[in-house]
Amino acid sequence: MQTNFAPETLADPAMQSSESVIRKCVHCGFCTATCPTYTLLGDELDSPRGRIYLMKDMLENERVPTEKVVKHIDRCLSCLSCMTTCPSGVHYMHLVDHARAYIEEHYRRPLVQRFYRALLASILPHPDRFRLALRLAPLARPFTPVLRQFRVFRPLIAMLNLAPRSLEAKAPTVASPASQSKGRVAILQGCAEPALRPEFRAAAVRLINRCGYDVIFAAGEGCCGALVHHMGREEAALEAARRNVDAWTREIENGGLAAIIITTSGCGTTIKDYGFMLRDDPVYAAKADRVATLARDVSEFLDEVGLPATRPTGLSVAYHAACSLQHGQKVTDAPKRLLTQAGYAVLTPAEAHLCCGSAGTYNILQSEIADQLGDRKVANIERLEAQVIAAGNIGCAMQIGQRTHTPVVHTVELLDWATGGPVPPTLHHLASKGTDA
Ligand code: SF4
Ligand code: SF4
Repeated sequence: MQTNFAPETLADPAMQSSESVIRKCVHCGFCTATCPTYTLLGDELDSPRGRIYLMKDMLENERVPTEKVVKHIDRCLSCLSCMTTCPSGVHYMHLVDHARAYIEEHYRRPLVQRFYRALLASILPHPDRFRLALRLAPLARPFTPVLRQFRVFRPLIAMLNLAPRSLEAKAPTVASPASQSKGRVAILQGCAEPALRPEFRAAAVRLINRCGYDVIFAAGEGCCGALVHHMGREEAALEAARRNVDAWTREIENGGLAAIIITTSGCGTTIKDYGFMLRDDPVYAAKADRVATLARDVSEFLDEVGLPATRPTGLSVAYHAACSLQHGQKVTDAPKRLLTQAGYAVLTPAEAHLCCGSAGTYNILQSEIADQLGDRKVANIERLEAQVIAAGNIGCAMQIGQRTHTPVVHTVELLDWATGGPVPPTLHHLASKGTDA
């Protein structure tokens, strides 16, 4: 695509990067076929190509974002399906991340939007505040029928629907040594996952120990920054990235790390991008690159080191590929290969490339589109009649889990169970068919 950025505009490295992304687009439109919002809404401006035109015009002319541009960029899930489809290698993620930051800086949103966005940014990345909010959710839930009458409360209702009815014990946070150590790995502690489903991390720690690796949790590490990054709050995202780079660098330099393991693929995509996010920071660029190079989705790591001996359960599993894993990190085969090795019958739903509508805070801020995508995803999965649904991302697990009676677990819980771990807490009713019967 031809561009006409002024030299003064290109003096900004972020503009330079976006211009080079835009130039790669050849307008072919292949990406429209796999874009969830175009599939649902049929509007070119809700397709990757349409959004690229909107972003080009806004950035190239340094325009104040219009309500129309913001609407169509906000509707983008950042699912990155378009990046998988694009034959020209357009790095849509870097472009839309920049556009979101530009909008945040140059556009004043209506009061209600500002309120919800500020609320989410101040609660979700902080595990203690998030847990408190989840504990308060049952108090507000009885008012849902009344709140439903008012459009302004849609995001609040979406939050209440996502909040689990009961909270499990906290996820492990202390170092866990293997019996015969092959090396040391750090696990991202994260923010939302340990509050919602602490059993995911517990299973990952047990299994990684069983593979022969010591697990540590780096002091000072916290939310990866993805949630605020996707809201365009760049300073907050970079602050989170620097804090984590510092925490893991201390561990790399004092004992070494074989990998930094992430059990939530949405976070993994952002951590693998730390090198890019901090590329212009002379103090952090090299350290961020090193951290990004060590980052592994838990399924990637297990696929590299190999599973311990398995005792097959014989259960059928519908594998849901999170967008951040399949499109963001291009980890497509490892989770299915591991589940098959562990003795599960792995089934793949139709339209596996389409997002389930979770997408960070999308199912709260764009709940109407998210609901349609969620229902469509669950209908495709339920057609498989599998006994269990496996996913590698907490957002997908919550989005799918609230729409189906089939239990949703993390892939690593199934792998842990099949290699000697306990029955996942949500699968006790299936245990008679499993190895712990
Ligand atoms: S990231 Fe997903 S929703 Fe956004 S334009 Fe690409 S395919 Fe469409
Ligand atoms: S597939 Fe790639 S090159 Fe073609 S329109 Fe979409 S982004 Fe542009």
